[in-house]
Amino acid sequence: MASPAVLMRLVASAYSVAEKAAAIVRKVMAGGDLGIVEKCGANDLQTKADRLVQMSICSSLSRKFPKLTIIGEEDLPSYDVDEELIENGQYEEILKKTCPPQYSTIKEEELVVWVDPLDGTKEYTEGLLDHVTVLIGIAYGGKAIAGIINQPYYNYEAGADAVLGRTIWGVLGLGAFGFQLKEVPDGKHIIITTRSHSSKMVNDCIGAMNPDTVVRVGGAGNKVIHLIEGKASAYVFASPGCKKWDTCAPEAILHAVGGKLTDIHGNSLHYNKEVKHMNSAGVLATLRNFDYYASRVPDSVKQALVP
Ligand code: AMP
Ligand code: MG
Ligand code: MG
Repeated sequence: MASPAVLMRLVASAYSVAEKAAAIVRKVMAGGDLGIVEKCGANDLQTKADRLVQMSICSSLSRKFPKLTIIGEEDLPSYDVDEELIENGQYEEILKKTCPPQYSTIKEEELVVWVDPLDGTKEYTEGLLDHVTVLIGIAYGGKAIAGIINQPYYNYEAGADAVLGRTIWGVLGLGAFGFQLKEVPDGKHIIITTRSHSSKMVNDCIGAMNPDTVVRVGGAGNKVIHLIEGKASAYVFASPGCKKWDTCAPEAILHAVGGKLTDIHGNSLHYNKEVKHMNSAGVLATLRNFDYYASRVPDSVKQALVP
């Protein structure tokens, strides 16, 4: 058999790297010293877990795939990585799948990897552990085409017998795996949004959508998991603040199951390496009925959020 396509080898490695990352996230929390640093005020934090996980993911992937462009959230001084942080494994189940033909000849140097080592840091520091995810997004030609979301504390309240943590992954044209796809019942409008980065505009935009329920949780990864598991119908964030590493992996997984993630105007996000990191025009995402939510965004919100 021909050797697997670069994309599938990268996804298989990133899966294992994300599992190692989750173990680091849990170990730092169990150790009790989070080493919290304020990057830009109390609502933009970095912990020892953010730092160690970024080193682990970036170093592990760049050793195996030296020509990749990898962009991580954290600004770290140059470092000698501890060998304990390196993960060499690859998830064999992914290598058994056939790469979608349109991606089978992609070269390593054409891929851009967006890494959020710990999404939901604020919630991590507050003990809302199942809001936390590790995000590895893969882009080609400016488009999010594959992603891995690890949820290190999935099941943490389900009792000692439950398996702790899970990894969800997806590739455009192949599908997404590691969870049960579900839709919100009865066409209810359940809007999911930020809990720690709210504003009048964020709330006005949600209000205009006629919500039955508003769910406020941390993390972009966590919110997209709610969409694909039928726990929320739209992720609405009418504010700057969310970055490309927050949206790349979740977008790829959502798109792989037929959903849509864009800015608040309905414009696609771009993930080429030169792109501005900030998603200045907010985020709008759904599994189904995207047009309904897009049509409800007030003009005043659109005018205030310039891409
Ligand atoms: P949230 O929904 O508030 O958890 O935000 C999703 C992602 O976007 C997280 O990684 C946040 O850190 C980031 N984010 C959103 N708004 C802001 C902001 N105002 N400042 C810094 N980061 C933000
Ligand atoms: Mg994040
Ligand atoms: Mg982060």
